[in-house]
Amino acid sequence: MGNKISRKTDENNCRTSDMDQKAEAKMGNTISQQSDQPKRPPLQLASEPATEKVIEAIIEANDSNVLLNVLKSENLTFSEKTGVMWGLHYCFDRTKLTWRDMFWIEDQLEEGGHLNVVQYLRFIHYNVSSLETYWETESMEKAIEGDIKTRWLIQREICVNQHKQSLQQQLDSPPPYHSTRQSSQAEPSSKSEVTQQLDSCNQELKNLNKLYWEHQNTLHQILSKWGNGAARQAYDLLRKTDDWYLNKWHVQDCKGRKGCCSRPYGCCERNRETERHEKRGHCTSACPCCVKLKIYQEILK
Ligand SMILES: [Zn+2]
Ligand SMILES: [Zn+2]
Ligand SMILES: [Zn+2]
Repeated sequence: MGNKISRKTDENNCRTSDMDQKAEAKMGNTISQQSDQPKRPPLQLASEPATEKVIEAIIEANDSNVLLNVLKSENLTFSEKTGVMWGLHYCFDRTKLTWRDMFWIEDQLEEGGHLNVVQYLRFIHYNVSSLETYWETESMEKAIEGDIKTRWLIQREICVNQHKQSLQQQLDSPPPYHSTRQSSQAEPSSKSEVTQQLDSCNQELKNLNKLYWEHQNTLHQILSKWGNGAARQAYDLLRKTDDWYLNKWHVQDCKGRKGCCSRPYGCCERNRETERHEKRGHCTSACPCCVKLKIYQEILK
């Protein structure tokens, strides 16, 4: 029995020292890879004594529950947790944790509502897997561009619909054909011109409807080919709440493009005038409110 235990200990020692060598070699690789990728966050947080201690405790415990509890803990700040996550990544081989364990931890964090932590963990996973990153970046770009195109199509539809309503009101009111509401298009002066513009509005709405459904099909194909990597998981989680797009980055982006977020009207926070599923979102170049403002500014020049 004693022999058996000591043999096991010896085996363990051998395995540990062997693994340490492998881990060192791998860490060397990772660090040399890191020097080729200057964008990766620095390691200073992981080298802080408190964080280092936590990392060592996780490695020693060899149990995914311990890492999960650390990441859920209220005793550590978010910054300390990011330090633990990066630090652990650079010596991942020493933990004996598998990728399956990490996915389980991600699921547990998400279910427990630790959304910032799980998104950060996915950010690390996304950054460290170069092959996955390549495919995921391509899919992510296409999905984001697709999302913008959906908003453009819907906002253009609203624009055309508003102009159509204005034309209809002009037709119903006695001549001369003065608009009763603000329109983003040039005002027609005769009944035949109004009718002509109404026809072109109807034609454009028909085209936009066709383009919308074709685009939804393309978007579906992009999302179904994307796979289920860290970036896709993060993308899906972000979109689970209705207000996901109102985070400071997206609002800043809309402000930067001089969209409605740069004015105190709250257009992006409300439902837009559409029956489509995608009622809310930031401005594109087709936003009716932005288009009208641009036209008025041109007139005032
Ligand atoms: Zn607006
Ligand atoms: Zn706008
Ligand atoms: Zn906006």
